[in-house]
Amino acid sequence: MLMKAIELLKNDDLVGMPTETVYGIAGSIYSEVALKKIFKIKERPFFDPLIIHVSNIEEAKILVKHWPKSADVLTDKFWPGPLTLVLEKSNLVNDLITSGLSTVAIRMPNHPIALNLIKNFGSPLAAPSANKFKKTSPTTYQHVKDEFLDDVYVLDGGSCIVGLESTILYLNENENFLEVEVLRKGFIKYSEIEKILIENGFKLKSAKLENSINVPGNMKNHYMPKKPFVILTDGKGLEELKINFSTYVEMILSHSPDIAARQLYSHLRISSQGKEDIIIFKKMSWHTGELWEAILDRLLKAASEIC
Ligand code: AMP
Ligand code: MG
Repeated sequence: MLMKAIELLKNDDLVGMPTETVYGIAGSIYSEVALKKIFKIKERPFFDPLIIHVSNIEEAKILVKHWPKSADVLTDKFWPGPLTLVLEKSNLVNDLITSGLSTVAIRMPNHPIALNLIKNFGSPLAAPSANKFKKTSPTTYQHVKDEFLDDVYVLDGGSCIVGLESTILYLNENENFLEVEVLRKGFIKYSEIEKILIENGFKLKSAKLENSINVPGNMKNHYMPKKPFVILTDGKGLEELKINFSTYVEMILSHSPDIAARQLYSHLRISSQGKEDIIIFKKMSWHTGELWEAILDRLLKAASEIC
């Protein structure tokens, strides 16, 4: 199966790749044909940049202009894992990957199949989530098959253990301080990132990027399920809804945010499959803390109405 996947990648084709966050749709970063296929099959606009997946640090270092000390500290602690670093790109990185930005997003996934695939293919893979643009992310082999039918060869790596996209962190290090900015919340908490950087003597400063780097995590209507999805906040009831419906299904997530993150996209999909008109999620007062913030970030963007 690995051999077939590698053969496809060598022929400028795409492969469905399991990672610990969500399934990706992967193509060679050195094949413009493959990169274009990623955008086409996802119906993704070219202004939405891709994350590059590496299997070792050396692969990452040649993709950036300068690999800062803070990147060593963070990758020592969090790679392989759900942390994506955004750094100034080198000339090796195709503009299609970065949507013309001067920065590139890189991570090392913590999944044996993804690491093996990249290692044996011999160079990094660009891999956005394996779903159509703006739709719910896939966390199982079957989700990817449902999305792309037989158009894509998918490696089965079971259910994603994290279930939520990576934390994306912009870094800009100079002699005096380190500018950091979380571009997308994820499983790796900013408090953990901050702690390790401060312990290593970095003076942190918030980056506050101009022209807001394009982070679709920040677009409305991302992660959308197939049915209208409504979030009720602050104990509000169904009677507050101004839409017409006669039946609904309530999506219930675990009290544990780690488990809730893993369940999130599967539950959104399953909730769409019934005959009910709409899906409801009740936001509770105890949905607090950094991981719940990351989960709620996805839920709020998936919602068609919040009341
Ligand atoms: P996904 O398509 O779910 O894998 O998410 C990839 C996301 O990574 C993009 O949509 C952006 O939000 C983010 N990203 C990729 N490259 C960059 C970059 N150079 N600067 C900022 N964010 C980036
Ligand atoms: Mg995505």
